[in-house]
Amino acid sequence: MANMNRLFFQPHQSGQSKVAAAAQTLQNINPDVVIETHNYNITLVENFDHFLAQMTNGSLTGGKVDLVLSCVDNFEARMSINQACNELGQTWIESGVSENAVSGHIQFVSPGETACFGCAPPLIMAEGIDEKTLKREGVCAASLPTTMGIVAGFLVQNTLKFLLDFGDVSPYLGYSALLDHFPKYPMKPNPTCNDSFCLKMQKKVENKEKELIIYKPKEVEIEEEVVIENPFEIEMCDDDDGDIHAYSTLPVESSKETSVQKTSEVSLEDLMSQLGNL
Ligand SMILES: [Zn+2]
Repeated sequence: MANMNRLFFQPHQSGQSKVAAAAQTLQNINPDVVIETHNYNITLVENFDHFLAQMTNGSLTGGKVDLVLSCVDNFEARMSINQACNELGQTWIESGVSENAVSGHIQFVSPGETACFGCAPPLIMAEGIDEKTLKREGVCAASLPTTMGIVAGFLVQNTLKFLLDFGDVSPYLGYSALLDHFPKYPMKPNPTCNDSFCLKMQKKVENKEKELIIYKPKEVEIEEEVVIENPFEIEMCDDDDGDIHAYSTLPVESSKETSVQKTSEVSLEDLMSQLGNL
């Protein structure tokens, strides 16, 4: 599902499909990773069943995959992934960069538990405007590999957190390149979502038939008492002003006097004559 042509494609790969070029590049970087490619349009009905089957039986052990990452470049393809994942209750992370290339987002979707992509579609789509009418013929969308690299970094970072179970996976994380602003907020599912499978999964969550990922209460870790070793037997002193210093300090009054005396001992004239003798 990689659509990272601006990051993967190299001049010598001209003529190859994006999928083949991505696989080749990644295989060169890490030959130990098993890469399987499927080069087809997931929005077409004839491919949808194969797409579902890959998610159901496509893991290394022949079972369900752990996570699906979406890196596609159009609304229709996102909705196909959304539909398939809702149908299977498959956890996935959506990602995207805006047409003007200065903002992006990632959205973690646990069907029924968090908002699916159809629960809160982009405003233009919610108003029923055809996506194809937004793109001007022959005009390429803006491209900033830096924005894509940053968004891809967030996507992979949250993937690692999810798969290796550390930290908090962000339900939604946005990125505004112009302001360096990173909005982050939870997204609860919409009870009037148009996707019937999303509503079914919401019912499962309500009836506690589905394990929560984002909203499950975290176990509180009890911190062990830290024993500080002090091999040099350094002691902390408590002086009159209440401040604790690890070193001895002069009383405030006497240190002021010393500095005044020092300046009064040498006059400006003395300094000028010293300079003149040099
Ligand atoms: Zn939904």
